[in-house]
Amino acid sequence: MSMKRRALIKGAAAGAAAGAATLATPAIAQGKIEWRMVTTWPKNFPGQGTGAERFAKSVGEATDGRLTIKVFGAGELVPAFESFDAVTRGAADCFHGTPYYWVNKSKAVNFFSTVPFGLVTSELAGWMNFGGGQELWDELYDQFGLKGFHGGSTGVQMGGWFNKEVRSPDDVKGMKMRIPGIGGEALRKLGMTTINLPAGEIFAALQSGAIDATEWVGPWNDLSLGFYKAAKYYYWPGMHEPGTQIEITFDKKKLMALPKDLQAILAACCRAENEMLTSEFNARNGGALETLVRQHKVQLRRFPNEFLKAYGEACGQVIAEMREGGDAITKKVTESFLKSRRELMAWNRIAEQGFMNARLLEYKYG
Ligand code: CA
Repeated sequence: MSMKRRALIKGAAAGAAAGAATLATPAIAQGKIEWRMVTTWPKNFPGQGTGAERFAKSVGEATDGRLTIKVFGAGELVPAFESFDAVTRGAADCFHGTPYYWVNKSKAVNFFSTVPFGLVTSELAGWMNFGGGQELWDELYDQFGLKGFHGGSTGVQMGGWFNKEVRSPDDVKGMKMRIPGIGGEALRKLGMTTINLPAGEIFAALQSGAIDATEWVGPWNDLSLGFYKAAKYYYWPGMHEPGTQIEITFDKKKLMALPKDLQAILAACCRAENEMLTSEFNARNGGALETLVRQHKVQLRRFPNEFLKAYGEACGQVIAEMREGGDAITKKVTESFLKSRRELMAWNRIAEQGFMNARLLEYKYG
C-alpha cells in the first residue's frame, strides 16, 4: 500500500470517527454552556463569596464541564443591589444574594431570607421543604421569571456593633444604623434611622460616623470586615436575623431549557452548598468570636430584655401590617409562615430549646 493510500485510509477513518462522535453526542455537550453569576458580595468574600465559588466549582465538576458558572463579585459586572435585575433583564444567568435585598419587588421576599423573632435555620428548612415555603417562593419569583434555591444560612446572627450601650429602648432613639429587612423597619418604629449598605461599604460608613451602628452577620464575617476597629460593643442575640438564607437564583427560562439531568444537578448542587455553607458559618464563628474577644478586646453585650420585648413588639407590628396590608402574595406567605412558626415553636420549646437549656446546667463533662 502506498504512503498516499495509507494516509487517505487513516484520514477517512478519523473522519468517520469524528462523524460518529458528532452523531452520538447531543448538541448541548458540544457547545459547552457557560453561565454568568453575579453576586451581592465582594469577590471571594469569606463565607458568602467563597460559597458562591464553591457552588460554581461543584457544578463544573458534577457536569464534567458541560455547564460551568463564572462568578462575578459585586461591582464587577453590576453593583451588588442590581443583581436581581441583572438576571431578569438577561445581563447574567443567575445570582447569589439573599432575598430580602429585593424588598422593593415585594415584602414577601423577607420570609425567604429571615424574619425577626421568626425561625432558626433548621426550622426555616422545615417550612421551606415541608410547610409550603418553597412553593410560595416559586409563586413569588415566577412573577419575575426566576427560580430560587437556598444556598446556605448564616445561622443566628449577632445583634450588631454599637459605640453606645443599649440599656433601654430609649437608647436607640436617634441612632442611625445599617440594618436591612423587617428588623430595620421595626427599629424605625423605635425611633432609629436605618439604611441598607452592601458589605463593601459598611466599614467606611461606621468609621466616619455616617452611621452609629451596624449589623452584618456574625463573628467570622464581621472579623474579616474589621468592624472591631470602628465600634466597641458587640451585641447579641441577633433577634432580627435568626438564620439568614443565601439564595442561588436562576433565570427560570434558561434553567428549564437545560437538559433534565443538568437541571437536577444544579438543584442537587444548591442543596449541597446549602449544607456546606451553613455548617461552615457554624464552625468558624466560634473561633472568630474568641479572636474578637481575646485579641481585639471587643466587649460583648446582651441586649436587655426590656429592649428585646419592645423590639419584638415592633417586629410583630410589621408582620401584622404585612399580613393585613401587603400584596396578595405577601398576605399568603405571612399566614403560611405564622402557622409553621406556631407549630415549630411548640415543638422546639421542648426539643432543641429544651435540650440547649438543659445542656447549660452545671455538671462535669469530659
Ligand atoms: Ca445581617
